[in-house]
Amino acid sequence: MTRILIRGATALGAHDVDLRIRGGVITARGALTNESGERVIDARGLVALPGLVDLHTHLREPGGEASETVLTGTRAAAAGGFTAVHAMANTSPVADTAGVVEQVARLGDRHGYATVRPIGAVTVGLAGEQLAEIGAMAQSLARVRVFSDDGHCVHDPLLMRRALEYVSTFDGVVAQHAQEPRLTVGAQMNEGALSGQLGLAGWPAVAEEAIIARDVLLAEHVKARLHVCHLSTAGSVDIVRWAKARGIAVTAEVTPHHLLLTEELARGYDASFKVNPPLRRDEDVLALRAALSDGTIDIVATDHAPHPTEAKECTWAEAAFGMVGLESALSVVQHAVVDTGMLTWADVARVLSSTPAEIGRLDGYAHPLQIGSPANITLVDPSHSRVWGAVDMRGRSVNTPYVGRQLPGRVMYTIHRGVLTVDDGALVEPEAVSAAHQEVFRG
Ligand SMILES: [Zn+2]
Repeated sequence: MTRILIRGATALGAHDVDLRIRGGVITARGALTNESGERVIDARGLVALPGLVDLHTHLREPGGEASETVLTGTRAAAAGGFTAVHAMANTSPVADTAGVVEQVARLGDRHGYATVRPIGAVTVGLAGEQLAEIGAMAQSLARVRVFSDDGHCVHDPLLMRRALEYVSTFDGVVAQHAQEPRLTVGAQMNEGALSGQLGLAGWPAVAEEAIIARDVLLAEHVKARLHVCHLSTAGSVDIVRWAKARGIAVTAEVTPHHLLLTEELARGYDASFKVNPPLRRDEDVLALRAALSDGTIDIVATDHAPHPTEAKECTWAEAAFGMVGLESALSVVQHAVVDTGMLTWADVARVLSSTPAEIGRLDGYAHPLQIGSPANITLVDPSHSRVWGAVDMRGRSVNTPYVGRQLPGRVMYTIHRGVLTVDDGALVEPEAVSAAHQEVFRG
């Protein structure tokens, strides 16, 4: 079913908007009457957003298929309202060659739940010693524009300088995981009074802030684009604000969990709250929300980090860092910054779709919900509220702290390139998604 009419949606501040979809494209907008053979979606009470774009997803394939695959990860993405994800390079083998990035992009295309844009490694094997084949990945069929050693910090300042210089030749960007490695040896949670009480090694804010300060100065020096992954401290916000005021080409992201959760949650030693960077203090959460609201932080990115149960159901010190985030991102953002009056739904469209697409140089998201744009659309019911259950987790891993908690909002429909991937709140099966893409392709 690829001839679709959406009726009565609220879209970017406008009410009662009808959208017609044909051949994977939005072909009409306004007050429309339905045509024969058209699937009509009653969107009264629903908010229409441009398909969400994640700049920071770990899909784990190749090599980590026990945690996630391109198929299961993009199904989780669709369930969360995403139509494009940028897949981090810390796979096995590492995505540091044209061959690996092309394979990852191809798998995304084959399954059809979301566009998969591979992120290329900055250094060979993420080892931090020698630049990867950045040019070859940029020129490959995967057209890589974002490069990151995420999971590791590009610590050597000369390598970071060279990477910034290299990507600027083709309008690429380096996405830095800002973590000074010597200041965080063995670190387990935010450094402060609580880490002392709990007997867990501390992760000081300065370990993040020192790298961001260095990197914005490097980006200014070589006139390149820098993106900072997962800001977690008020000090990091201050540095990015200063850099932007100076005209430095820096963008920054925050995760949903850093907008909502604090270090207090470590008290129960529940490893589902163990993330990298760690959960911080109340005042950091408030600074991050304010920075997202005033534009100092450009986007929300999930840092979706699937792990098998055994990697999280163990002692805090032994547990892996990270939580999954694709399914819950929109609900957490609604809870933390929309229902608190800090962001409008039009702001959500900006921080979860058009700006991440712009940073990643992803085509098709520049004119959201307008005639002629690819039909990437998410319809959300903001009045819905529910206690999250395991059934809401659609990826292969369930390492999330949200199961059993009440969260607002529900993704009712996701449309990727004119094809329904979520229909009336339920994921569409793989065969139906592929068949519909073929129908769109044939016209
Ligand atoms: Zn990271």
